[in-house]
Amino acid sequence: MPQQQSLFDTEPAPWEVDDAAEQLVATVVLSGVPAGEFDYVAPPGMVEGERSERRLEPGRRVRVPLGRGNRSVIGYCVALTHKSSGGRKLKPISGVLDRQPLLSPAMLRLTRWMADYYLCPWGQVLEAVVPAGVREQAGTRDVTLLSVPPEVALRINELKLPAKQLEALKILAASPKPLAAKQLAARAGCTMAPINELRKKGLLAESVERISGRSDDAAATYAREAPHELNPDQVAALAAIQESLQSAQHRTILIHGVTGSGKTEVYIQAIQQVVRFGRQAILLVPEISLTPQTVARFRARFDRVAVLHSHMSDVERHEHWRHISRGEVEVVVGARSAIFAPTSHLGLIVLDEEHETTFKQETAPRYHARDVALRRASDQNVPLVLASATPSLESWHRAKQGEYRLVEMPRRVLNLPMPAVRTIDLRNEIHGKQSRGAISRPLHRAMDAALRDGGQVILLLNRRGHSTHIQCPACGYAARCPACDLALTFHRHDSSAVCHYCDYHAAAPTSCPECKFHGIQFSGLGTQKLEAEVRARFPDHPCLRMDTDSMRGRGSHEKALATFREGGTRILLGTQMIAKGLDFPNVTLVGVVNADTALHFPDFRAAERTFQLVTQVAGRTGRGARGGQVLVQTFSPDAPAIVAAVRHDLAAFARQELPHREALGYPPFSSMVRIVIRGASDKASHALAEELARRLQECANGASPAVRVLGPSTAPMAKLRGDYRYQIQLHSVDGGLLRNVVRMATADLKAPEGINWIVDVDPLDMM
Ligand code: ADP
Ligand code: ZN
Repeated sequence: MPQQQSLFDTEPAPWEVDDAAEQLVATVVLSGVPAGEFDYVAPPGMVEGERSERRLEPGRRVRVPLGRGNRSVIGYCVALTHKSSGGRKLKPISGVLDRQPLLSPAMLRLTRWMADYYLCPWGQVLEAVVPAGVREQAGTRDVTLLSVPPEVALRINELKLPAKQLEALKILAASPKPLAAKQLAARAGCTMAPINELRKKGLLAESVERISGRSDDAAATYAREAPHELNPDQVAALAAIQESLQSAQHRTILIHGVTGSGKTEVYIQAIQQVVRFGRQAILLVPEISLTPQTVARFRARFDRVAVLHSHMSDVERHEHWRHISRGEVEVVVGARSAIFAPTSHLGLIVLDEEHETTFKQETAPRYHARDVALRRASDQNVPLVLASATPSLESWHRAKQGEYRLVEMPRRVLNLPMPAVRTIDLRNEIHGKQSRGAISRPLHRAMDAALRDGGQVILLLNRRGHSTHIQCPACGYAARCPACDLALTFHRHDSSAVCHYCDYHAAAPTSCPECKFHGIQFSGLGTQKLEAEVRARFPDHPCLRMDTDSMRGRGSHEKALATFREGGTRILLGTQMIAKGLDFPNVTLVGVVNADTALHFPDFRAAERTFQLVTQVAGRTGRGARGGQVLVQTFSPDAPAIVAAVRHDLAAFARQELPHREALGYPPFSSMVRIVIRGASDKASHALAEELARRLQECANGASPAVRVLGPSTAPMAKLRGDYRYQIQLHSVDGGLLRNVVRMATADLKAPEGINWIVDVDPLDMM
């Protein structure tokens, strides 16, 4: 409901009110505060003239007066309607900013839904969806174009002008198109002076036009690649997508296919079909998968691919935006935010690795690209394809309920076998005392054998740094981050103690700061320590570490992978960075150094994450003719997540896990909202958390179906970057009702200076 603009106005004088009058009203959403929708009169001159550059229409930004002082602010026109003034005296729009709409009607609907669903102001969503480079028209500039007005052209021969000026004027009059002053000077072979004289005399007409910057589209040519002949599983998967395409009805298709089952080939062929019908497709992949290898694969199959990644300049982003909106791009490939690509004829949306948590944005608007994609696809009546070897339990559950169509691809292409996966019980290894360090004897033997056979090895350890604990054995002192109160990790190369959450750095202590004991212990295993152990055990085989510390430089990730692919490195070790979508035929052994790192997190998805991580990294081997095996070191070989991962059995894992979720009222059986209250003052943060929980409880009272309010409690990360943190969780089977409770309870909640709260709908981050 549009708010009354009169909230900000003084009451109109009685003679200004004309109840009956219909007028054209523009609804405007401000890009800043206050949130809400405001009505303004659209002056007739702004709406008329089909081709006017500054025409007012929904999707363009406008300048409007706000409040008593008529402060000039910027907003988005979201609707134009004829309505009666209803006794209100509306202020007029001051001006239109954009030369073309930044948002189509479909994107206006989508952003409005996001604002509603994610409990955040519409204006904030709009600002997030339209890239800054597009709003500012980065890379374009205004050029003044000159022409000769008709009345001057008619009497051009009667004019008494110096020769140079007359010459320039005649050239301009003869030109079929207006010219920039510089162009005219060049054509007339004169300086700018005669042209400026003509302008001063009023003999030239001027108009302003926006000129685009240079596109750096090097238009590299890629070798064409023919489609593969599909195997029966692929044929069935493609048929499911085609069915939806042909019926022109939205359908969500979940492809659950093991790594190497040919999922990518299937959706490439589906996209080819969409493109043949003159439509466009959006393909979302996790940022980390946007490697030159993947991009090359798409460029080899499509003529016009736009790749949107996070290292793009404003100018590049703007260029892509314009090409996409003009329909000049067949396929948009990008991370999360590519879901907002302004395709003019959308035909299909694909999310690869749909379980990836990076599809969720962790700053406002805290949207999940998968859910936004679902909304966009159903609104625009196109199919949505979700693909993964380890679908999220949310998607899996919906597929099992019949909401999505489930397509299984349980076999690898070309009948390559799935790798054999075996667990190594670290409890026995420890008791045996024969093995020292992180690599157990069975893992060492398997590495040795794989390397001797000419194969390559991948080792996963999901903790960076050298030692994860810095502790004094005499008094028990443990080094903690002053801002986050979390254990600091020892980094060997510069002997520093580092907080992995806020990047706090300090020199690692050599003696205990508390009891002065000489002999601080560095314990707990990180990738740097593992690297040292691997080098000591296998001195003859080059080894490469891949984590955020070793891969800081731009392109270092690609370089490292290329070295590994070419065989220059035989052992690749690293964090989950190496578990993602890499395809190396020569890898014959994958070792998971500690499968339990994620298992005991205070997060209801801990088991699911563990299942996904182990299954994904296991998929990195056995992709070539040599086969492959996976060894998983764990202290909990009987944990359902690990047992199921060993068998590549998502269905079994889901059968175990889903009843727990249901019993505890967690997603996918309920909707969930997490509120985090944080601030530099512990007391004030806690007080606000208490107050908010009380209001939520009050609003939730008697709600049917029930809305559960849990908390406030201290967040698992009780302190972060100097802020104390409290959380409140809300659950309900009715998401709409849940959101209403939060809306009501926070409507007039005032946070004291320095304290704030964030609302996270469908949270993934539980820390
Ligand atoms: P996924 O996306 O499931 O991991 P891909 O589509 O990437 O699987 O396929 C794995 C490999 O098999 C790729 O190198 C691909 O080119 C190849 N491939 C896919 N489908 C076929 C097919 N029908 N016949 C032969 N090779 C195929
Ligand atoms: Zn910190």
